[in-house]
Amino acid sequence: MAATTPQRIIAHFDLDAFFVSVERLFNPAYIGVPLIVGGKERGVVSTCSYEARQYGVHSAMPIQQAKRLCPNGIFIGGNRAAYSHYSRMVTQIIADKAPLFEKASIDEFYIDLTGMERFFDPFQWTIDLRQQIINETKLPISFGMSTNKMVAKIATDAAKPNGYLQVPFGMEKEFLAPLAVGKIPGVGKNTQQTLESIGIKTIRQIAETPVALLEKVIGKYGVELWHKAHGKHEGIVAPYHEAKSISTERTFEENVLDLDRLMAELVTMTERVGYELRQEDKMAGCIAVKIRYPNFDTNSRQIAVPYTCYDDEIIPIAKELFHQLYKKNQPVRLLGIRLSELTNHAQQTNLFYNTEKKTDLYKAIDDLKNKFGKLAVKRGGGKN
Ligand SMILES: [Mg+2]
Repeated sequence: MAATTPQRIIAHFDLDAFFVSVERLFNPAYIGVPLIVGGKERGVVSTCSYEARQYGVHSAMPIQQAKRLCPNGIFIGGNRAAYSHYSRMVTQIIADKAPLFEKASIDEFYIDLTGMERFFDPFQWTIDLRQQIINETKLPISFGMSTNKMVAKIATDAAKPNGYLQVPFGMEKEFLAPLAVGKIPGVGKNTQQTLESIGIKTIRQIAETPVALLEKVIGKYGVELWHKAHGKHEGIVAPYHEAKSISTERTFEENVLDLDRLMAELVTMTERVGYELRQEDKMAGCIAVKIRYPNFDTNSRQIAVPYTCYDDEIIPIAKELFHQLYKKNQPVRLLGIRLSELTNHAQQTNLFYNTEKKTDLYKAIDDLKNKFGKLAVKRGGGKN
């Protein structure tokens, strides 16, 4: 047999209606009924149960509209700490088993099993992993498996709820062909409408359209879309342990003894990393503070928190960590803060992002900061 690039084997896991499923663990009255998790009156739907979806309710829909469509639904605000806890639990189960995985969002994971077929059957291995997650967390989860991330993710979507699906090598294009164009991740309403205006509704039609025409109609993205419609996608599974952190630190020109000054510095630095976090459209699950004394004694402390991107939630924790660490009446040479366990903001997680007016407020603040150019924030591997 000729030596060829090994066929990639990628699994994509996604917890089903994650927030709803967690709520049901705590309250059996939520089982079998239309349950909608989301912000308050002015907010949007974060997650809704499959029963609610039958009424036309979906994620990102304004709560008021969901109430009109589903007046008998149960509407709840959600519990970020509980969702973060279960997200970590699933992450840990996968981390203990998988050779290489990426946490794509709070409830979504990619696992790269390329080459593992020499040691075990990757499909059976993934079925067993799914069962273990269900047994240990009692949460429904689906997975898709294929030769790249995109097809695996679309396969997960097709497998839901609470199922799994493998699209083998060579079948990718055929699997995608009958699906609506909107099933391709990244194809939004605008692109869908543009494609529809030239009569394209299915992925098969994209694949059969000359690439030059697609490029003419939707620009450079048309080329990418054409490749995707043929089942091709090169995205790699980014290892979780190399997940970025965002940190900043400051060495004082003269050692600082004044506690008020240290607190003010800490707040400023926290605002900087918080800003950077939001610019990258991420949330952090771990906050760390570092103090160095004039004799180069360095202490740091970190704590896991419910995933957040808001300064007003991060600052009190940073202060608390500082006080736990700080040796009273000692001058400080260096102060640092680091946000890690970074997770993408996914559609469903808008409960974490979109609490009342907070998003608008932070956007206004960050827009203002953008006007003042770059800030001294560094991104790194998090080995502090
Ligand atoms: Mg999900």
